[in-house]
Amino acid sequence: MSEIPGARAELNRLGRSLREQLVALITDLTPGADLGLLFLDDPLVADWHDPLRYHFSALFRGERPATVPAAEIASRAAVLLDAAGWDVTTSEAQQDGKRATMVLARRDGNAIRVGTGDHTSAVMFSGRTPALALRAPKPFQWPEPVLTPEAVTPGHVLCYECDGLGWCPSCGGRGWRPSEPHGRARCSECFGKKVCPICRGGGDLAVSDLSDYQRGYYPELE
Ligand SMILES: [Zn+2]
Ligand SMILES: [Zn+2]
Repeated sequence: MSEIPGARAELNRLGRSLREQLVALITDLTPGADLGLLFLDDPLVADWHDPLRYHFSALFRGERPATVPAAEIASRAAVLLDAAGWDVTTSEAQQDGKRATMVLARRDGNAIRVGTGDHTSAVMFSGRTPALALRAPKPFQWPEPVLTPEAVTPGHVLCYECDGLGWCPSCGGRGWRPSEPHGRARCSECFGKKVCPICRGGGDLAVSDLSDYQRGYYPELE
């Protein structure tokens, strides 16, 4: 599969921009938080449909200082994000008679949420970049068989399950099959092992090892 020119650089740029903003927010709103726990180093698969789409995403928990009310954290978050050019919306909800506030901000396709409330000392930060495809889609090509009928050695027969393919005949050696709604599901024949579950990848079976049931596939042996 061929890389889409510039896609990886664009995703990395969005990821760096997201990290910078999250670090600035966390440092300001929950001083003393361990930024080593902010994991934003590798893009993750956001959508398993072909072509795979990747994004950076992170969830971080900080603690608000005991002297600062939750409402003040939320309004400060909104001010900081607005000043940095983000589109900010704030929503409030009542939870057991206490107020919870969510600040949602968007910029350049990136999204950040800051959640806080009177019921907790936690300030939850989350962020994600948009999901980008890094490679062009490519139709699946079945692998070549590992064994042809002519190459079967004496005392062996071509595997009845895969006819010499060797790879799992259900998924073609990918270990997964296209599936909705998530795009992929683990192959129910090989359970992700990729090779044919009967011949375990060899493409053939020893006649002496065949069970009575398996011999039923080879009437020429009788
Ligand atoms: Zn399979
Ligand atoms: Zn097989």
